[in-house]
Amino acid sequence: MDWSLLGCGAGGHITFAPDEPALGERLSVAARKGLAWRCLRCGTFVIGEPTASGPAASAPRPRRAEQVRSALILRIFAVERFLRALVFGALAIVVWRFSASRLSLEQAYEQALAPLKALLHDFGFSVQHSKLLGLLHEAFNLDPRTLGYIAIGLGAYAVIEVIEGVGLWLVKRWGEYFAMIATSAGLPYEIYELSNKITVLRVVAFVINLGLVLYLVLTKRLLGVRGGKKAYEAKLRSESILDAEIAALAAEQEVAVEREVEAKQEAAVQAKRGATAAPGISETRETPVADETGVNALPRRDPSS
Ligand SMILES: [Zn+2]
Repeated sequence: MDWSLLGCGAGGHITFAPDEPALGERLSVAARKGLAWRCLRCGTFVIGEPTASGPAASAPRPRRAEQVRSALILRIFAVERFLRALVFGALAIVVWRFSASRLSLEQAYEQALAPLKALLHDFGFSVQHSKLLGLLHEAFNLDPRTLGYIAIGLGAYAVIEVIEGVGLWLVKRWGEYFAMIATSAGLPYEIYELSNKITVLRVVAFVINLGLVLYLVLTKRLLGVRGGKKAYEAKLRSESILDAEIAALAAEQEVAVEREVEAKQEAAVQAKRGATAAPGISETRETPVADETGVNALPRRDPSS
């Protein structure tokens, strides 16, 4: 599957006209209808005005190939995190609101949490079997102050899930670290829940979260795994069309400079040979012949001495 093309299908091509003319030549071709610019994501030449222009350093750096798939995977996790945040945020509000009015507490729990219970069940929490919700249920018999703390705890968890969701959605490195740490921190509780009672949903939730942690650490090279950030960024550069063209251009220019130096050395050798041959004495056989590179390392014997 060509994930780059999929990305362009969803978000359109990304073409860029750099200020550097030599680089511009490499990123464009003259078509009958005008210049066609190379899409920095899928590599297709697209006729028409580039979507952006400016110095090469300011060029857009679209996600390509596997990175498109990776971003999609992380965004699916992000959506799941947002849903969790909604559920726990709602729980926090319910507990908070009724922490003061203890009389209506049991009713409030039954009324307000009925739809939540179904949702929570989908997330792998069974109200009957969950230690957490069991504790919560017991908590309604607690004093308002303790209930307040529980509400704060639930709210804090919702906030953590929102941050995780945002970080994953934006595919930022901090977000990947945050999600990895926050999800890892939840794993012991999930293991505890599993040890309590194994249900399909709990196993699925555990596998998803463990999978996310491993996926982040391995593919995003977190914690210095597989070369860490340096290796990750090097891989991104190696996959970038623009960076590949910049590298190719630099290599080409290097070769051009080398050729120029060689040509100058050759010219110098020729000039010297011309000067020594000028006196007309045919003893040039003593002179070593310049090698292919034009660099003559051996000292020259002056025939006039
Ligand atoms: Zn494209």
